[in-house]
Amino acid sequence: MHPKRRQIGRLGIPFKLFFVFTVILAISYFTTSTLFISIRDTVDITRDIVKVRFEVLSISQRMIDSLLSMEENQKKYRVLREDEYKKSFLASLQEYRNAIWSILWFRYEGFAVWEGLHEEFKAEFPDLAAGADLPGDPWVPQEKLNRWIEIILDARRENERVIETGMRNLYSLSEQSVNRGVNGLIVSVAVALVGIGYLVFTVSRPLRELRRGIRAFTVSGRLEPVRVFSKDELGELASAFNEMTLRLKDEEKMRTDFIDMLSHEIRTPLTSIRESVNLIKENVFGEVNERQRRFLDIAGDELERISNLLTRLMRVSSMASQIVDITLTPLSPAELLNEVLDKASPSAEAKGISLEIRAGGHIPLILGDEELLGQALLNLVGNAVKFSPRNSMVTLGLEMADGGHKALFSVTDEGPGIPEEEQQNVFNKYYRGVATKKTTDGIGLGLNIARTIVEAHGGDIWLTSLPGKGCTFYFTIPVGGERG
Ligand code: ADP
Repeated sequence: MHPKRRQIGRLGIPFKLFFVFTVILAISYFTTSTLFISIRDTVDITRDIVKVRFEVLSISQRMIDSLLSMEENQKKYRVLREDEYKKSFLASLQEYRNAIWSILWFRYEGFAVWEGLHEEFKAEFPDLAAGADLPGDPWVPQEKLNRWIEIILDARRENERVIETGMRNLYSLSEQSVNRGVNGLIVSVAVALVGIGYLVFTVSRPLRELRRGIRAFTVSGRLEPVRVFSKDELGELASAFNEMTLRLKDEEKMRTDFIDMLSHEIRTPLTSIRESVNLIKENVFGEVNERQRRFLDIAGDELERISNLLTRLMRVSSMASQIVDITLTPLSPAELLNEVLDKASPSAEAKGISLEIRAGGHIPLILGDEELLGQALLNLVGNAVKFSPRNSMVTLGLEMADGGHKALFSVTDEGPGIPEEEQQNVFNKYYRGVATKKTTDGIGLGLNIARTIVEAHGGDIWLTSLPGKGCTFYFTIPVGGERG
């Protein structure tokens, strides 16, 4: 692994969460603060335009209007000498004075021009400028009026230019804000998506792998190590799972070895005891009477039973490990059923159980290992016979399933059935039914071996049961080869 990736893999999940959310927060903060700065600039410019420049524009217009009106009334008065024009002139003069006072309120860059005008006004009308009453001879020389109008017009033009630049700045600032906002949003969303995707990936990948490992064990009893992707909490969990798997495997091996050893160790003395009992029964050590023979028979039968149990134990305990390489050849499923029926007949007859085959229609050849499949089927039939009451019936079924791709085998009995809560356990190694283990011999490996064999063939095995009314075990095997 790349050293950097190893370092990242070692970081804990809380740190990863913290890191991703901090990056998202930082980007959002950066975006918001740049937006805030843009908005503040916009507000400043807008305030200058709306509160100062537009006001200056309208007051200066009032000043021009007053000056023009003064000029007009002055001219008219000079020609017509009517008091009315003088009055209007004075009113405009007052208006002009008020306008100058109003405009002086605005302290902005370039407001000196209004101070200049005010100075000139003060020089022209010292009393009026100080707030005194209107003068008796108010007239203003024409050149002065023209100059004032010129100055005001210049100042207005300058003001308009500032407003125009301000508007342009406003426009580009708002465009900039929109761009920054959109870019920030895109980057935040992208980082959030990548970050969340990364989190989901780093969390869900090991979880999926763990689920696979746990499922393999709960569904088919396989102990498989899982891949460890990181060194964080989930990585530790996966490593712990693998350690547990190894331990369980070791324990299972120890158990199998122990069973093998024990079986061998018991078998040897058992054989000599059986031989001795036989020799006594055959009067080798002197005549035995009827009563003694009866007890020797019972001892012989029990020894036979223990010996059979040991043989079965040894065979099945090592069988699971042997089902690794299987050779698949085309087989007739019907023939397989017949062979198993023949093998199971003696024990069935001993209990008065009738064994019957029900094969539906024409079944093609299946692909399988004859010996192993026979063993799986025999385990199911053997259980059916073992758990069924006397004089009941066990049925071996055969039909097509999965749209003709698989052969479906079934074994149905009229025994005690399997309680629902035990159904998912019966295929596990060494599991024996709570009720049945008290009344029957067994080691709890038959169904596990059957499942291992069926799954090694690419088939499935399951059961249905109505407790008290018996049960049916099913398994499927893929068909193959030519039609049988
Ligand atoms: P064993 O038969 O040695 O106990 P198996 O693996 O063959 O081990 O079966 C496991 C358990 O499943 C049995 O102990 C029994 O409780 C239950 N079982 C299996 N087959 C049947 C059946 N046909 N009817 C009732 N219970 C069954």
